[in-house]
Amino acid sequence: MTVPFSWIRPEPHGIYIAPADAWVDPSRPVSRALVTHGHADHARGGHEATLATPETLAIMELRYQTREGALPVSYGETMRLPGNVQATFIPAGHVLGSAQVLLEHAGERVVITGDYKRRHDPTCPPFEVTGCDVFITEATFGLPLFTHPPIQHEIGKLLDRLAAEPERCVLVGAYALGKAQRVIAELRAAGHNDTIWLHGAMERMCRLYEEHGVPLGDLRLVSDAPSKDALRGHVAICPPSALNDRWSRRLPDPVTAMASGWMMVRQRARQRGVELPLVISDHADWHELTTTIAEVNPSETWITHGREDALLRWCELHQRKAHALALVGYEDEDD
Ligand SMILES: [Zn+2]
Ligand SMILES: [Zn+2]
Repeated sequence: MTVPFSWIRPEPHGIYIAPADAWVDPSRPVSRALVTHGHADHARGGHEATLATPETLAIMELRYQTREGALPVSYGETMRLPGNVQATFIPAGHVLGSAQVLLEHAGERVVITGDYKRRHDPTCPPFEVTGCDVFITEATFGLPLFTHPPIQHEIGKLLDRLAAEPERCVLVGAYALGKAQRVIAELRAAGHNDTIWLHGAMERMCRLYEEHGVPLGDLRLVSDAPSKDALRGHVAICPPSALNDRWSRRLPDPVTAMASGWMMVRQRARQRGVELPLVISDHADWHELTTTIAEVNPSETWITHGREDALLRWCELHQRKAHALALVGYEDEDD
């Protein structure tokens, strides 16, 4: 008799699907990779073949300037891999193109979430609960202290600040893939139709989102602004690294804001010199992680990519079989 789930092997640099000789989100080049989404810690370049959603492949092409070996798999489409393994990509609700991977082999079902969240996000389809035997979940915010407020609340804080200080601008630090576009789309949903000014590093990813059906409204580059005055009373968006560097001096006395799940931690906001912390995360918070495990109701939960210990303890308290995986190479680009 074969050992249950022995065909799926967590290795330090990715999850190995032995019968198919394929890897999920490998952190080094392999012959066959299944990539959950475009963040750099999941989507490395240089694989011989890359299976991913068309959106993720477009993001990878933008970043690595090559489409070599790209094999698009749409949401809900099932691909046959060697060794009698079937792979289906299912929405994860994390960023444009993000997917969970359902693997089926020998009558066993394994779901690998990649990064995910359960909150509404106008830039990507919502996470779908998929029944399985083994559920491999991320745990970036796997501590009970992490409760992300409704995004409307945080967007409201941003707009209130903008209205209160019309002589200044609000400069939001946000990751170039996912967070920036979500903040823009939520500003639009809140009725903010003014020009939003972008750091040059945001431009191409925003265009890519628009090409994939996510309208972002009037966007212009800060470098194209006719004067400092043109930016007063406006929102500008830049990568977190540009928040306090020379680049930001061209803005009129910016209120520095940062959109990140880590803004729950006051010390992190202080370290970054952030005046207006916005708790906006593209990852599941503690409540989302625990309710998702309960809804999926797998026979085993494997926990990775973050704070495994507390979630492991929660599983034990709820009589759920669980263990932590020691994968390396996942640095959050995307909190
Ligand atoms: Zn990640
Ligand atoms: Zn991610």
